Amino acid sequence: MMENKYLIAKSCSQAIEMSKSNPDFSYISGGTDLMINKYQKNNISKTLIDLSEITEMKNLQIKEDKVIIACAVSLSELEKNKKINSLFPSLNKAIKSIASPLIRNSATIGGNLLCDNRCMYYNQSEWWREAVGNCLKCEGDICIASGGKRNCFAKMVSDLAAVLISLNALVSVVNNDGEKIIPLEDIYSGDGIYPHSLSAESILKEVVIPKRDSKVFFKKLRERKTLEFTSLTCAISVRDNNIRIVLGGVDPKPVVLDFDKDVTIEEIIVKSSKKCRIVKNDLYSRKYRKKMIGVFIKQGLKKIL
Ligand SMILES: Cc1cc2nc3c(=O)[nH]c(=O)nc-3n(C[C@H](O)[C@H](O)[C@H](O)COP(=O)(O)OP(=O)(O)OC[C@H]3O[C@@H](n4cnc5c(N)ncnc54)[C@H](O)[C@@H]3O)c2cc1C
Repeated sequence: MMENKYLIAKSCSQAIEMSKSNPDFSYISGGTDLMINKYQKNNISKTLIDLSEITEMKNLQIKEDKVIIACAVSLSELEKNKKINSLFPSLNKAIKSIASPLIRNSATIGGNLLCDNRCMYYNQSEWWREAVGNCLKCEGDICIASGGKRNCFAKMVSDLAAVLISLNALVSVVNNDGEKIIPLEDIYSGDGIYPHSLSAESILKEVVIPKRDSKVFFKKLRERKTLEFTSLTCAISVRDNNIRIVLGGVDPKPVVLDFDKDVTIEEIIVKSSKKCRIVKNDLYSRKYRKKMIGVFIKQGLKKIL
């Protein structure tokens, strides 16, 4: 039987080398998402490659035209950075709404952007999943939430993804082909089972946020004000003539829509709700979450337009 291994990488290139010789691996940063998935046997990889000691992934740089946040920076560190808070108050609001202070001490930016999609039929113990007949995202053959055989609608729950996409953030990705910078929204596939479109060895190295004049609204729907994942996250930015709506927690990927300012609020709400593939995979009903999309968009646009 293959032994479990825990490897600590000191550079991105070393981590990628380690991944080549240990194909059954997962990267680990703060471990706050990955270790729960391991205990629940939703992640069964034999080797963990630790990215938390990579120095090049711990920098925070504030430049004239952009801010660069390396992906092993913890949510707490970012939360406490006064310069970043004054530049992007909505980012600070989003971070404060994530998990709890203790979890934010370990959780990293990269881990948050790449945490696994969630569904009430999936994020359960192995015993619970088996008792309901297993779902598509684990060992089963149908999606219990929708009854379908083809698609998994486990929802994307990263609150940072929503607010950072509203700020037009880019990410630098390092993999076997080198390093490239892409729009953050491009890393999400829209498939609940394999929610990220990056190759297995890819490392999210940095997030780049352009400094631009924009007003941003952030709001989240959840059952408790702490420790609870999102049932709907809404980030809206207004810049020049553009309104960008980003919705999280209501589709396997962040739902992103851009409008001109002359489009009516009603049209924005109809188009935004239609683009979200909400199924009954959350404690709130599908209908209620759909309705709240309109409520949040109305509140947001009233505040920042
Ligand atoms: C109780 C609880 C409540 C929570 N509530 C919220 C919430 O309200 N909103 C929210 O947004 N999140 C919430 N979270 C999720 C939390 O934000 C994530 O667990 C955390 O951000 C993950 O970061 P991490 O560094 O611990 O990632 P890890 O657990 O180490 O990794 C998560 C995933 O990302 C991969 N990974 C990590 N870093 C990199 C990298 N740099 N490059 C490539 N792959 C990488 C890992 O392989 C793994 O698949 C909650 C978590 C808990 C436990």
